[in-house]
Amino acid sequence: MPEGQVSHRNAARFSRCLVGRTIIEAWSTDPRVRVQRLPDRLMGESITAAEARGKHHLLRFASGRVLVSHLMMSGVWHLLDASTTVSRGPVMVGFSVPGYTAILVRCPNVRLVEPGEPLPGIVRSLGPDLLDPEVDPADALPRALTQITPSREIGEAILDQRVISGIGNVYKSESLFLAGVDPWRSVGSITPDEAARIATIAAELLGKGTRQRGAISTYDPPGWLPSYGPSGQRWVYGRARKPCRRCRTPVHVRAQGDTCRNTYWCPACQR
Ligand SMILES: [Zn+2]
Repeated sequence: MPEGQVSHRNAARFSRCLVGRTIIEAWSTDPRVRVQRLPDRLMGESITAAEARGKHHLLRFASGRVLVSHLMMSGVWHLLDASTTVSRGPVMVGFSVPGYTAILVRCPNVRLVEPGEPLPGIVRSLGPDLLDPEVDPADALPRALTQITPSREIGEAILDQRVISGIGNVYKSESLFLAGVDPWRSVGSITPDEAARIATIAAELLGKGTRQRGAISTYDPPGWLPSYGPSGQRWVYGRARKPCRRCRTPVHVRAQGDTCRNTYWCPACQR
């Protein structure tokens, strides 16, 4: 599932392979993208930077245009080298530069922002990015939590990209489990030390996910091989009613917040 670890990994790959190159071919099979003439507008553009902002991808061009995408639940950016045959299946946006082809699939959330036009509001209002080397997670989350309504639940608040960016639904449950914090507690009851612990753990997990080619595998006891599969090994996420890996209490699951995202937790380990 694409969370901040995927956008940062993609940005690093795009920086290595695409920056400094010029688009020689661009296409889309999606009518919503074609109606914006997006492929035509990409043709001839030189790529100057690739950035991740939380879970958003930004590709910047010499003209000042910016291609902004968000992978939502199932989008994927594929980066293929010249030796790989490019499938011509459904594609939101595809483009080639000398040596590489990049293809965005299953992602309805893509937009080419013109020079001088503001970036989408959600990108401008993102909270500190836990994978930004300039951000200290142990300082950023305690500070961010003082700025929001204290009655909000911590499990809902850390998923809100305006509060802190990069954490998606899997890392939310896993970070709160490893920090020993009950997801249903109010933000006002979370101590600065607890907030620092949650953010430090989340940043470590996101960094690990980036190194593990985007896979979210958080539970790697000594002697186990890290799992690179789509599901990976987790402490609580996706393990409803299974015994907690620490105390054997059955793992709970319940929808949380206005977006009703499932939260998994151990009622014995998380207080
Ligand atoms: Zn437990």
